[in-house]
Order: sequence, then structure tokens, then C-alpha cells
Amino acid sequence: MSFTKKVLFSMVTGIVVGLLINNFFIPNQLIESILINQVFHTISSIFLILLKMIVLPLIFVSIISGIISINDVNTLGRLGIKTLTLYIFTTMIAITLALFISSFVNYNIEVIDAVNNTKQVLAAEPSSNFILSLFPQNFFAALVDGNVIQVLSFAIFIGISASYIKNEIPEFVNLIDNLNKIFNKMVLIIISFTPIAVFALLAKTFSMEGLDVFIPLMKYFSIVVLVLLLHFTFTYSLLLKVFSNLDIGTFYAKLKSLIIFTFSTSSSNASIPFTLDIVTNKYGVNKSLASFSVPLGATINMDGTAIMQGCATYFLAAYYGIELELIDFIIIILTATVASIGTAGIPSAGIIMLSLILTELGIPLEGITLLLGVDRLLDMMRTSVNVSGDTCISCVVAHSENLIDIKKFNQ
Ligand code: ASP
Repeated sequence: MSFTKKVLFSMVTGIVVGLLINNFFIPNQLIESILINQVFHTISSIFLILLKMIVLPLIFVSIISGIISINDVNTLGRLGIKTLTLYIFTTMIAITLALFISSFVNYNIEVIDAVNNTKQVLAAEPSSNFILSLFPQNFFAALVDGNVIQVLSFAIFIGISASYIKNEIPEFVNLIDNLNKIFNKMVLIIISFTPIAVFALLAKTFSMEGLDVFIPLMKYFSIVVLVLLLHFTFTYSLLLKVFSNLDIGTFYAKLKSLIIFTFSTSSSNASIPFTLDIVTNKYGVNKSLASFSVPLGATINMDGTAIMQGCATYFLAAYYGIELELIDFIIIILTATVASIGTAGIPSAGIIMLSLILTELGIPLEGITLLLGVDRLLDMMRTSVNVSGDTCISCVVAHSENLIDIKKFNQ
């Protein structure tokens, strides 16, 4: 059985087992204290602890290695700034769209709140000055506190400094590359336990809360899919229309194989060779531009991930009865943009980085467990959107610089 099928299977089994327990065995002291609070809770918690354990080392190293891999910071120049600006711009549109559409959804807070008497709502820490809080006074303190955003900004600084002198420090560059490979491997190992963890956490959630949690979760899933589709169809066609005169129909028609590929890998990084091939050979983008824009996009441009993070934050805020104010929306847009830049292009990285936004807003991280059951499927779809965004922007930038073979594009 493929991994996806396994996750889907354990998802359904977890829900069914949970509902059976909820309907036929609750209240029952033994079932509640041993099966739910010990067995299910321990299995799902180990999984989460492992995910949290890897997040800081992973982003620290992947950011440094991503920045060093850009050939030369000085020569990035206009091309780099253009690509970077468009990447960040589309991510901001994506997250704004996600929040806008989510704000029309009623997740039925009362119902969820009433059944979740065990939940603790953490008070949102007042973010007195968001900009200042991005920078660590003491890097080690940031590490110990698990302050993801400060670790990220320190990593960006190291990456930029290192790329100025990368010829003098080949051992360091090698070390970072190797560490990056090791941490990515660790994530894959942890993720391989997803089926059992998904089973345990869905069985736990549904045995305690019954069907009440199912409908909001399905609503969340449908909202993410809807926003992904909207962004995929409208934002990218608009981008092509406004910034180039490339044929929109041709662009979408040629995306098919790339979408199928990214859908099955759930990884922008793993798709880089394939994306590069499509962008240069099918779309006719100049090789040297593509070899810079595609890996950069796979590392920092994650529109689909930002959409999931926006919808998830809104959903979890409703779930925990936390009211979001205007300033919170601004914080979400900024943090999700930074988080999606820091998200490694590997399966499930987006859901790990969601912890960054939730922490910033004081939303309990445990909420992530609730989303994990449907996240595998969403990961496939959002990765396809992530990579489509990289492709679209590569074409737009190439067109604006006359670095695209129009004949090849139209073929
Ligand atoms: N799987 C996504 C990617 O590789 C990242 C994520 O988990 O959102 O693009």
C-alpha cells in the first residue's frame, strides 16, 4: 500500500474507532484513563514532540544552505530582486485570500467550545513591537526559548555573510549541506510514522468529542481546497496577464505533468530537477535564470503552504474560542510570509511551520494534531500550487528580461 493510502486508511480507521468508543464505551473510567489518555495520547504526543524537536535545526540549516546555494549575492541584482519580490508578493496575496475567504466561514465555535472542556486557552502574548521581536539579542537564548522567527533571522544573516566568503569556507558549506541532508532525512523518518500517529490522534479526538469535531474539520478542508483553486486559477492568470503577454491557456496546459509529479512527491525540493526540466524545455525559460529561480522558489515560495497556514490559523482560533482582531490578521500575514519562506520544500514541513504562527498568536500548538489527519492530502495539493507558482514567476521574470524562447513556450 502506498504511503498516502496508508495515511488515508489510518485516518478513516481512527475516526471510526474513535466514534465507536465515543458512542458505546464512554463514559468508562478504564477506557478513558488507559486507552485514550495513555495509549492514544502517548503515541500522538511522541509524534508531535519529534516534529517540534526537528523544526529549529531544520530551518536553521535549510535557510543557510538555501542562501549559500544562490550563486553570488552581489550578482543577484535586478533579476534576484524581481523574482524575490514576486515570490513574496504572491505569498502575501495567497495568505490574504485565505484569511478573507475564511472570514466568511462560521466554524460553529459554541458547539466546539462546549465539548472541549479540557482545553486550555493560552493567553496571546502581547506582541509589543513585532519588527523588534524578529531579531535575537542572544541567539542561544532564542534557541533555548524555541523562538523560531529569531532563529530564522539569525540563519538568514549567517547565510548572507557566508555566501560573501563561500570560496574561503568550503568545509563550512559542505557541513551545512550535509546537515541539511541529514535533517531532511530525519523529517522523512518522523513522517513515516504518520499513519500510526494519525490513527492515534484521530481515535483520541473522536472518542472524546464524537462527531461534533468532524464537520468543522471537513469545512476547514474544503476551504483550503477552494482557496488553493482560486489562487491557482486567478492569481497566476492575473500575474501572466499583467506582467507578460504570455498565453494563459498554454501556461496551464503545460502544467499538467508537473502537477501530477508534485502531487505524488509532496515536495517542492524533490521536484526541483523535474520542475527545472519543464520550465526550461517546455516553457523555454533561459537555463541560467531557471536554475536560480526554480531552486529559490522551491525554498522560499510557498503560496499553497501559506494558504493552508492562513486557513488553519483561522480555524484553530475559532476552535479555541480566540477572537482575531485586525492586528492579528496583520501578524498572520507577516508571520505566514516569513514562515513560508522558512518552510523546507519537503512533505509536511508546512504544518510544522504552522507552530510559528500559532505561537505568535497564543493559539495552543496541540491544535496541529487535529489537522494532521487531513494534512497529507492537503500537502499534495498545496505542493502543486507551490511549484506552479515557481513556474509562473519564472516565466514572468524571464519574459520581462527577454530570457524566454516564445516559440518553445507556444509549441
Ligand atoms: N510539502 C510542501 C512543499 O514541499 C511544503 C509544505 O508542507 O507545505 O512544497
